Amino acid sequence: MSLDGAYDGDNIFAKIIRGEIPAAKVFEDAHSLAFMDAFPQSRGHALVISKTSRARNLLDVAPDELSRMIGAVQTLAKAMQAALKPEGIVLTQFSGAAAGQTVFHLHFHLIPRWTEAPLRRHGDGGMADPAELVELAHLIAAELR
Ligand code: AMP
Repeated sequence: MSLDGAYDGDNIFAKIIRGEIPAAKVFEDAHSLAFMDAFPQSRGHALVISKTSRARNLLDVAPDELSRMIGAVQTLAKAMQAALKPEGIVLTQFSGAAAGQTVFHLHFHLIPRWTEAPLRRHGDGGMADPAELVELAHLIAAELR
């Protein structure tokens, strides 16, 4: 999908927001939802999405919604740091299929990194064990401030 186009209300993250498919949730409020990536590039890879915006990518989103999302990203990063003690954290966002985007509901990736643990390729990793994702989500959620 190019950078232009209509929002598809049946994308997988819209279904997660509506509770139609499960997700290992870390936190949510009226605006934002953070949950574990099902095909993680590293242990603890998590995503932040807006629950209210129908933005497909960074170009579509209203500035106030974007500010709230970035606030949620920082909240998640701090809890991730406290829970998993990574040596670094990567923040990524892909806009458009040519950039690597596969789900067209705006989201930010937070990927904890350890020097000794190679990063799996974006969109190329295997599916994680759902029970392990729930466990990680609980570990991170316990450190939310
Ligand atoms: P992107 O390629 O930037 O659009 O990112 C989409 C991300 O969603 C990828 O990292 C996928 O691993 C992840 N993903 C796809 N389906 C699910 C799902 N059902 N639950 C959690 N994460 C998912």
